Amino acid sequence: MTPLQPSPSLPPSPALRVTTWPVPVFLLLSAGLHLLALLAVLRSPSDWPWALGAVVLNHLAITLLGLWPRSTWLGDNITRLPAEAAARGEIALTLDDGPDPVLTPQVLDQLDAAGVKATFFVIAERAAAHPALLREIVRRGHSVQNHSWRHPHAFSVFGPRRIARELQQAQAFLHGATSERPTLFRAPAGLRNVFLDPLLHRMGLRLASWTRRGFDTRDGDTQRVLARLTRGLRGGDILLLHDGHCASTPEGRPVVLDVLPLLIAQAQQAGLRFVRLTDAWPAQTAVATINASVTP
Ligand SMILES: [Zn+2]
Repeated sequence: MTPLQPSPSLPPSPALRVTTWPVPVFLLLSAGLHLLALLAVLRSPSDWPWALGAVVLNHLAITLLGLWPRSTWLGDNITRLPAEAAARGEIALTLDDGPDPVLTPQVLDQLDAAGVKATFFVIAERAAAHPALLREIVRRGHSVQNHSWRHPHAFSVFGPRRIARELQQAQAFLHGATSERPTLFRAPAGLRNVFLDPLLHRMGLRLASWTRRGFDTRDGDTQRVLARLTRGLRGGDILLLHDGHCASTPEGRPVVLDVLPLLIAQAQQAGLRFVRLTDAWPAQTAVATINASVTP
């Protein structure tokens, strides 16, 4: 069993910059709505159906916003590179759900052949089963970030304690195994709830989603997956593919292996340059600390 504790040779963690969680405006308004509903019922008890209906609708809206991966209504969410990076023609390739002992080495070779650096949002439990592969990703110059410990499909209905466990267990393992502290988190399937943002804030992590995704876990058609990523492709875009849970082409090949060389060639012909997400936000690396305790 791979130990989950950080190794004793870790570099010292920078002090956690503790700041107040910036409550999203939508949640402030939601709290105000709850208060108004309560006051309305206290003033006129017969109005309770209206008050209850307003509160139920509000909760429905909060739930739906959590199921919208690129939404920023529930908190900070990176969906594009910063404007300066976009102006330089930079784009970011992100690969989720690995590492996979068969697929990830082939993806790494394709990236090396094209001179492309990517960002791997790994499932930490999988990384713990293949620690040498995880270190190889880092050795080849790619960025490893937090995609939860187990990638639970019910993540978006978890309470704060279970979400915190998923974040912390992954964070502790990835920091210990790579000596590099993840600063970004991507929610499983991009789905989340209202508890996630304050936890990320306390751990010095930022939520990162994407600009366009290939749906390569469901679709094995190379041209369709490629078209979703390249239609309207421009500087600043964050692209999502998978080196785990990847669909197969009719010939039985993981579709990502057919898409990647075509995608890279098209982007490079268009004058775009691949960067890691951490290249776009280098200052963020000083914020996080493995010692950030989360006790919701
Ligand atoms: Zn995933």
